[in-house]
Amino acid sequence: MTSPDPERISWPERDLEPADFIGALRDVVFRTRGKTYWSYLSPAWTTLTGYSVEECLGCSILDVVYPDDRPENSLRKQQLEAGQLNTSRHIKRLLRRDGSFVWIEVDLRVLYGEDGSFQGSVGTIRDISDRVALEEAIRHERELASATVMALSDGVLTLDATDRIEFLNHAAADLLGLQRTTDALDSGIEDVLALETHDIGTLIADARAEAQPRTLGGRCRLRGATSGWSDVELSVIPLSGADGGSVIVLHDVREQRALQAKLSHQARHDALTQTLNRSGMLDELRRAHAAFCRTGTSFCLILVDLDHFKLVNDHHGHAAGDEALRQSALAIQGALRNGDHLARWGGEEFLCLLPHTTLEQGVIIAEGIRAAVQALELAPGGQPMPLTLSAGVSATAADRADTLEQVLQRADFALYEAKQAGRNCVWHERMAGQGVLGRISQVREALRAERLDLAYQPIVSLTTGEPVGQEALARLRLDDGTELKAGRFMPALQQLHRAHWVDEQVIPRVLDACLRGTLQGDCFVNLSADMLRRPTLMQALLQTVMQRLGDPPQTAPLARLVLELDLGGQPHLEPQALHATLQPWLEAGARLAFNASGAGLTALGYWASLPIAFLKVHASLLAQAAASPRAHRILAATIQLARQLDCRTVAEQVDEPELVTFARALGFDCVQGHLSGAPLAASD
Ligand code: GH3
Ligand code: MG
Ligand code: MG
Repeated sequence: MTSPDPERISWPERDLEPADFIGALRDVVFRTRGKTYWSYLSPAWTTLTGYSVEECLGCSILDVVYPDDRPENSLRKQQLEAGQLNTSRHIKRLLRRDGSFVWIEVDLRVLYGEDGSFQGSVGTIRDISDRVALEEAIRHERELASATVMALSDGVLTLDATDRIEFLNHAAADLLGLQRTTDALDSGIEDVLALETHDIGTLIADARAEAQPRTLGGRCRLRGATSGWSDVELSVIPLSGADGGSVIVLHDVREQRALQAKLSHQARHDALTQTLNRSGMLDELRRAHAAFCRTGTSFCLILVDLDHFKLVNDHHGHAAGDEALRQSALAIQGALRNGDHLARWGGEEFLCLLPHTTLEQGVIIAEGIRAAVQALELAPGGQPMPLTLSAGVSATAADRADTLEQVLQRADFALYEAKQAGRNCVWHERMAGQGVLGRISQVREALRAERLDLAYQPIVSLTTGEPVGQEALARLRLDDGTELKAGRFMPALQQLHRAHWVDEQVIPRVLDACLRGTLQGDCFVNLSADMLRRPTLMQALLQTVMQRLGDPPQTAPLARLVLELDLGGQPHLEPQALHATLQPWLEAGARLAFNASGAGLTALGYWASLPIAFLKVHASLLAQAAASPRAHRILAATIQLARQLDCRTVAEQVDEPELVTFARALGFDCVQGHLSGAPLAASD
């Protein structure tokens, strides 16, 4: 047996009286009489309120109205009684016997007497607690969702099916530059949102047609605004529901793009001067060079170096030096044109790239730069800081297939010339051709084209009169056929610290000649300070030489090799370091000669720390000794000293018979010079 269902109404066979089915209804049916009293309440009243019908009939209606709802209830009651309302459907709360309340919906009609006077009312009361609770829950959910969307950092706009804005949050208003979130409600999206590169209407239509979200990166702003683009990532999401609206999400990427822009700026710019850095400039250089190769459009380079900047730092401090660099950069930039590029190329070195510019135009601009920096009136801490610069200018020329490196190197050479010429001046590549750098380029060309020749000057024993060896002397043939002796190109190479270019070629060739047997006795080769200052190059050269001497290497040629150190007039080379550089050569059997010309004679430190086998003394010192007793004594003592140290002595560049006699008298072992025999070409 199942228990009887309370919701189930049994239907008796006889027809029901109205009172019977009213009693069966869940809604309360009521009647009031006069202005305030319940005169009928159906049984459902008891279920609703917990009061029995009997105890309420004749009582005031207001007694069971929840206190907070009473004012509104009284107002409505007055309107009903005054005949202003004939019916009323309203919601309020009823107090229950247990003190709780229940939400009800009242639906009533007013009853009038024959004379039209207010008689009371009749109607139904429905328990709507469940509905109210549901509505409350929905309202809460909505509020929560709305607050969440409002608080999002992404902009959100919801559109109806006709693309009118139903809602937009604070972030969307902010991105569009709207004062309030309500400002654009009900407007068509196309009247509000403008995209830089797309049409928003088309975008929404496409998303809807494909039933797929659409996303793109770009910039948006308020339609009709003249500025204030915002960087966003925009998504259009079509809604599938019956109303077919859509949602637009504007992901704010302003910070992200600003950060990206900042990072890419930093990667290409110098932090101190905000000019391009080396890598930024290299990009521009490559671009300009590519245009030159493609179309022959020339470009010009100005390489600028601040003069005596070390002194500036020393006198005014590093911070003032930094400020001077900033001011110089500004001054240089001011002298350039739109489209020119400026970079901090090194510490106090700037490089200007002038596209579509000839050498002549570039030189005028370089003069402007020079004048602008000279005109700066800097005085850190009240101390005047005069600044000048030197500049080298080079340009591509349509008739030359210049590499970028070549154009850069010509600017570098010209800058060097400007420094040599006394600083605070501009030199260009064609002026450079007249000086040291012109000579250097000639040498480089000749070396590349293998136009280096060797002449051998015999060294003759003063005791036997027999040749004991020879010194290899470099000669260069220029492309016009002119022959240059070493004295005409070595000083230029030494000045730019490039003398090793020649050593690198001479030494292997002398050893080849030894191997072939075309040379007899000791073979002297010059070793420049530039070579000696490059230990790794010395090491590599020895390896090259060893490979040429066969496997296992023939040591005999190396044992005949005498490396002639020419350190006169060069910046000091640390004797210990020099020894370390030469050690592998000494171990391979080579010997050392020391060129005691000029200041070199005083370099006793080298003599003390290196196993010098030959001391070579220049004829000018012999001439001096012949004329001065004091110099005579020094030279005589030096020769004695050499003998004690097992060091043979050679008087070189001896061209006069009297000096030969003098050298013999002083105790020299050998002489070398025109009298000992004119230098012979290797083939002779
Ligand atoms: P020259 O006329 O031959 O160019 O002489 P110089 O003293 O300018 O040349 P050098 O190249 O010997 O010295 C460059 C100086 O520039 C040395 C270095 O301390 C200074 N320098 C390089 N970078 C900076 C920097 O960022 N800030 C400052 N304050 N000084 C720098
Ligand atoms: Mg400098
Ligand atoms: Mg410098």
